[in-house]
Amino acid sequence: MQRLPSLRNASLKGKRAFVRVDFNVPIEDGKITDDRRIRGALPTINYLLESGAGVVLCSHLGRPKDGQPDPKHSLAPVRAHLETLLRRTVGWIEDPFKPFAVQPGEVYLMENIRFFPGETKNDTELARALAEWADLYVSDAFGSLHRAHASVEALARFLPERYAGFLVEAEWENAQRVLTQIQSPYLVVVGGAKVSDKLPLLQNLLPRLDRLLIGGGMSYTFLFALNQPIGRSLLEKEQVEAARHILAEAERLSKKVLLPVDSVAATEFSAGAPARVFRHDDGTFPEEYMGLDIGPATIQAAAQFITGSRTILWNGPMGVFEWEAFRQGTQKVAEFIAAETATGAYSLVGGGDTAAAAEVVGVTEKVSFISTGGGALLELLSGETLPGIAALLS
Ligand code: AMP
Repeated sequence: MQRLPSLRNASLKGKRAFVRVDFNVPIEDGKITDDRRIRGALPTINYLLESGAGVVLCSHLGRPKDGQPDPKHSLAPVRAHLETLLRRTVGWIEDPFKPFAVQPGEVYLMENIRFFPGETKNDTELARALAEWADLYVSDAFGSLHRAHASVEALARFLPERYAGFLVEAEWENAQRVLTQIQSPYLVVVGGAKVSDKLPLLQNLLPRLDRLLIGGGMSYTFLFALNQPIGRSLLEKEQVEAARHILAEAERLSKKVLLPVDSVAATEFSAGAPARVFRHDDGTFPEEYMGLDIGPATIQAAAQFITGSRTILWNGPMGVFEWEAFRQGTQKVAEFIAAETATGAYSLVGGGDTAAAAEVVGVTEKVSFISTGGGALLELLSGETLPGIAALLS
């Protein structure tokens, strides 16, 4: 396994560290509704402070117009929350172009880096200005590593020393467990809305996995490719060929594939829509219904299918888990994965909405690792080189 430069090997006393974190958290009415990404960076921040370094934290938040301040996307609420979590004062940097000497044991948070021109363009001018703040670069923004942005990529190359923070290191090492350090049988569970989002991952992992469970909205494009009725369920017409190709490839490689045999379905896409169960495999799925969750027969088959797996990757819910009537498939599959984990299997959960789904169904503490990365994890598992990783290794 390729190792990232570890913070444990850095000499930190009296140094100033620029730490790119991912504090892009959901905020409603000034309140942070999910602080996992902030908590994820605490070990790195505390380690730096305890080692006698001064710390400058930098993140983006939301999608303000590039280079334009927008109070809606200020990191000020994050600063307040961080002070509570760290139990210490966190200084505030309003203007990254006016550097000052951050002292050992001090921690500062910079305003949303996307308020300043050049961040999303990987601009060298901005990176040069940011480099003035520090002696070394620490990358702890796993959720942003797939973006070639100035504070993620260009800056890492500008500073003379660069290290992976503990979050990035943990994410990287856990990703290796489903990429290169696999224990067979290897089960991949994919779901969620879009086939197109998951194709690169499927293509990369298909040769390595032993079992593939496809559920959620994306499964209907696969069923359609097999000429099974799906009514008004989600369908990506332009991906039907790709789905057919994946299934043919899986067969050629003798991989086990489980697709839904039935669905919990409704005639409209709403939380309270009356739900009924129909089968796909016997051709009786009605035209006016749409599948919003995997059905009981599929859940039963999934229980068997999951049992005995030693490595498990779960990406994507089995249905519209946000609505209770269509949550059972995600709930059960998550519980089956948790049960395997309890018997010693390794399980990684993440990408897109999956971490949120794991929380809703209550398995957060029962799987081996929950990734904080959405797109970054998907790209890493698709075999792509992430710009933020390449810069770290440069
Ligand atoms: P993704 O980000 O691709 O993992 O997709 C997650 C989203 O897919 C969630 O918001 C789910 O509500 C949605 N989803 C899962 N299954 C279905 C389905 N059968 N029909 C429509 N949306 C679905």
